[in-house]
Amino acid sequence: MTEPLSATDLARAAPARATGVVVVHLDRIAANWRALRDLVAPAECAAVVKADAYGLGAARVIPALAGAGCRTFFVATLDEAIAARALVPSANVLVLDGLVAGSGADMLASGAIPVISSLPQAVEWAGLGDRKSKRLQCALHVDTGLNRLGLSAREVQSLIGDMHLIDRIDVRLVMSHLACADDPNSPKSTQQREVFERLLPMLPSVPLSLAASDGLMLGQPYHYDLVRPGYALYGGQAFRGGRTPVQPAVELHVKVLQVRDVAPGQTVGYGASWSPPSLSRIAVIGAGYADGLFRHLSYANDRVIEPREKTAQAMAARSPSSGGEAGPAFRPVAWVAIRGQFAPIVGRVSMDLVTIDITDIDGDVAPGDSVEAIGPHIPIEVLGASAGTIGYEVLTSLGRRFHRIYTGSA
Ligand SMILES: *Cc1c(COP(=O)(O)O)cnc(C)c1O
Repeated sequence: MTEPLSATDLARAAPARATGVVVVHLDRIAANWRALRDLVAPAECAAVVKADAYGLGAARVIPALAGAGCRTFFVATLDEAIAARALVPSANVLVLDGLVAGSGADMLASGAIPVISSLPQAVEWAGLGDRKSKRLQCALHVDTGLNRLGLSAREVQSLIGDMHLIDRIDVRLVMSHLACADDPNSPKSTQQREVFERLLPMLPSVPLSLAASDGLMLGQPYHYDLVRPGYALYGGQAFRGGRTPVQPAVELHVKVLQVRDVAPGQTVGYGASWSPPSLSRIAVIGAGYADGLFRHLSYANDRVIEPREKTAQAMAARSPSSGGEAGPAFRPVAWVAIRGQFAPIVGRVSMDLVTIDITDIDGDVAPGDSVEAIGPHIPIEVLGASAGTIGYEVLTSLGRRFHRIYTGSA
């Protein structure tokens, strides 16, 4: 197990006033990209850095990935693309949301490549190219059953039939996206692959892409020419069929603000939802739902589980064999870790504060100490499952109030 940043290093890296610190290990993100690159070679490994690199800070993550050798980046919006292009002017930056109506001129000026997913987008891009007397670069997103973005089979027919629309754009990549790639037993992935293969003869013969983090774990038939992982680069383990060869890259440490003893009959927090079974020591930590520690992590008496059972469940939930999302038994109870020992969240999570039960923690816990809310003992999947959501949402919700420190940058 990788160790969390030591208390001394943490104190050295963040100012004393920081109540919460997100540690982003850029060297591990770079190593994760290299591991996936090696896994899918000779296919190209791109990087999905939308939503500010899944909440971790695109301004730091993109240069680290470029330094590792990544040449192709996917973002969601044109604003994200403009920021990415400024960081890595020579890389390919593709915009997954495509061409929002009327944004063609801005897209062209940015140097980013739109991922075109509808006929009107193709028409606008071709028209802009006509005016510039050149075929403009784009990617094509075809729908193979996700029914989210992408051209349907019928729209693909129109694209090649309608006044040679396809010949007026410079298609550089044809891609689609899988619905159930996290489940290796789902027939949906095979079906989508078959639909993809059936559409290809109609389209220009250019590089192809189908897989994101989980799809690339489905094996070589899903790799095609380029894979598009996001979550796995940041250490995410969403694939349920085994462990993705990446290491955790994010930690969240939150400071203890106050410690108090609470007796049976007294209650803790809003709604008086939790009362200790026996004299208990409670620590108040300086982060809450405004920082991405979701209110669904709240804990009331009717959900109390014996300490030994709690630890066993926590261990089971983060063990590799359970894969990806933690089992439902873990929900909706949550923990933080102190020196590797689990302390349950008790009472209601409020906007800026969370109360934890430190009665069973060996050794002193004092104001100013940091607790691990995400790290080797609390993986993002476990925290997500505890809140009834997924690790992706945990990452992208990490609050703006946290100080972010970056280790291992070039
Ligand atoms: C977000 C996204 C990805 C990356 O998905 P991960 O599961 O984070 O690897 C890839 N392709 C498309 C179209 C996406 O929207």
